[in-house]
Amino acid sequence: MPRPIEALIHVDAVRQNLATLAARAPGRRLWAVVKANAYGHGLERVLRGLDAADGLALLDLAEAERARAAGWRKPILLLEGCFAARDLEVVERLGLTTTVHEPGQLQWLAAARPAQPLPVYLKLNTGMNRLGFAGAAAPAALAQLRVLPQVELAAVAMHFANADAAPGTAQAGSVAVQLAAFERLAGNWRGARSLCNSAALLTQPQLVDDWARPGIALYGSSPVAGVPAIRFGLRAAMTLRSRLIAVQDVAAGAAVGYGSRWVAARAARIGIVACGYADGYPRVAPDGTPVAVNGSVVPLAGRVSMDMITVDLTDTPQAQVGDPVELWGAQVSIDAVAEAAGTVGYELMCAVAARVPVRVVDGAPAALAPRPSAGDHP
Ligand SMILES: *Cc1c(COP(=O)(O)O)cnc(C)c1O
Repeated sequence: MPRPIEALIHVDAVRQNLATLAARAPGRRLWAVVKANAYGHGLERVLRGLDAADGLALLDLAEAERARAAGWRKPILLLEGCFAARDLEVVERLGLTTTVHEPGQLQWLAAARPAQPLPVYLKLNTGMNRLGFAGAAAPAALAQLRVLPQVELAAVAMHFANADAAPGTAQAGSVAVQLAAFERLAGNWRGARSLCNSAALLTQPQLVDDWARPGIALYGSSPVAGVPAIRFGLRAAMTLRSRLIAVQDVAAGAAVGYGSRWVAARAARIGIVACGYADGYPRVAPDGTPVAVNGSVVPLAGRVSMDMITVDLTDTPQAQVGDPVELWGAQVSIDAVAEAAGTVGYELMCAVAARVPVRVVDGAPAALAPRPSAGDHP
């Protein structure tokens, strides 16, 4: 038997999340952001759920190549553009839309001689201060891209630093300031604009663009701290699950795991789960982090090990070896685990380890394999 851990990728949830986002953005087109191997879900695995998207957005040329090889015929946007002049040959061959955020990229385009004009996004820096043209460089880049015969300027884009801002907060002020900067820098550009990530799309109805760029919401994780994904009508696209591989009865005062971090306040039953930080479960998860055993949420008890975690089963006495455990998914949201661990769902889903077997589900969740019979435990 292999270790019982596995990740399920719910293609139907991706499809449904995309439809939920599309319903929020009537008349607008959506880039489905699939960078970082579709946020750890596997680019090829999620593609079937993204049929209704208008394009894919990513930043790795090899991932663009994979999307084309998997049969994706619609547009593909390179969110960070080219990393070298010769990348433009790949852009042309694969029919990609490239971003220009930096003067060097503009020079590469000016020197290129593609057979057809290349579709280009111009990225403006409106206050995020990572990528994009700011100040006088912005209208200059815009003017140059508009006249270069090898360029078809497809849209002007920006990215918000605080798109999940609640009305009336300082962050909401930042959204307004960035939008005003965009209007100023984009001058008399009346063509398409691309502004919104998931958070902006879901929480800033005043922001309307032509091509929104949702990522995290497609995978069913909330882009807004403290607001559960379910409130946006989003469904988890990943389940990380395993089983109990041992149970220990410990006396009051006994300690569990490395560093003896968790100490039993009463006689306790400890469940040992085949999932550790080498599977991508966050080692920093504290005692109390939610874990679902047989559908009941129980607290993590003790430090996360490389291959195992330990949970307190004292209040779920019927739990036994072989029982199913959900680390995150529909029962325990990835955001709840992330919040306990002081991070975000993005990081956890991107960090599921290569050793975890992955199964694609499109429709009803796959039934757990029958519980291994006695003597057959992993
Ligand atoms: C990653 C990314 C997105 C998607 O952001 P989410 O928060 O995952 O929706 C959108 N735009 C750009 C430029 C990005 O890099």
